[in-house]
Amino acid sequence: ATSSKPQRATVQDKKAILDKVDCFIFDCDGVIWRGDSVIDGVPETLDMLRAMGKQLVFVTNNSTKSRAGYLKKFTDLGLNVKSEEIYSSSYAAAAYLEAIEFPQDKKVYVVGEVGIQEELDLKGIAHIGGPADADKKVELKPGMLLEQDPDVAAVVVGFDRNINYYKIQYATLCIRENPGCMFIATNLDAVTHLTDAQEWAGNGSMVGAIRGSTKREPTVVGKPAEFMLENIATKFGLRRDQICMCGDRLDTDVLFGKNGGLTTMLVLSGVTTEEQLLSPDNSIHPDVYMDSLAAMLEVKLP
Ligand code: PLP
Ligand code: CA
Repeated sequence: ATSSKPQRATVQDKKAILDKVDCFIFDCDGVIWRGDSVIDGVPETLDMLRAMGKQLVFVTNNSTKSRAGYLKKFTDLGLNVKSEEIYSSSYAAAAYLEAIEFPQDKKVYVVGEVGIQEELDLKGIAHIGGPADADKKVELKPGMLLEQDPDVAAVVVGFDRNINYYKIQYATLCIRENPGCMFIATNLDAVTHLTDAQEWAGNGSMVGAIRGSTKREPTVVGKPAEFMLENIATKFGLRRDQICMCGDRLDTDVLFGKNGGLTTMLVLSGVTTEEQLLSPDNSIHPDVYMDSLAAMLEVKLP
């Protein structure tokens, strides 16, 4: 990976990448789909890469679904993917807790949606909070005291469309009062594209609430953190120079790839414009860029 000016990929560049790499890691939103629609030409491109024997892996910072939830989404979009090829930040949170041997007799407090809960269940990790606390209210009467469960040894914060003051206070108490309680963030995305009409506050805002009240820095398990990359490289037996990271975002996807020593490919089918990419203000330079993943099909043309 170089840091020179990004180049729009030529056919030769694409062929060189295909010669060099055995595995493509794809970001999901903005690369494979936009919202609930598959991006034009992507199914054909994935088929082509599979026919060439490439390992395909799908990595998303969106923690609202579990691997099983994403498997259903891929299937509904007509894409044939295996559960173990999917790395969601919800899965990463549970895998991280497993990797550090989270104690069997401790619990996780979840700020987040069902994706995190489902992944914790699969690892047999006890948890409270999440959707169950969606309607909890704090009535601030004189002497009002909220007490946290002393067995909570980790707070996991993921995207939560029902975040409220109760959850923020509960998570804050766990982190501040329970000795050694961990603070884990699935991701720090500032904004997300829930609708095409505007940018919506992302998980950075939820993590920011708890960071603000605890003055603690979270351990991040999603992109651009190394954690998922390490898991992928180990699971599929790959060296870093055999992997290409393809994403639509500079500060998560391309940075994830560059930090990890991967070949990096930016596609313009998501949140980054060519103008932003080439602006002197941007210092995160992918090795190559193209309009969308479908541009890889060009290598097949006579
Ligand atoms: N987080 C949330 C809540 C989202 O809705 C999205 C995209 O839809 C993302 C993160 C980014 O997902 P990805 O990493 O697949 O681009
Ligand atoms: Ca994306």
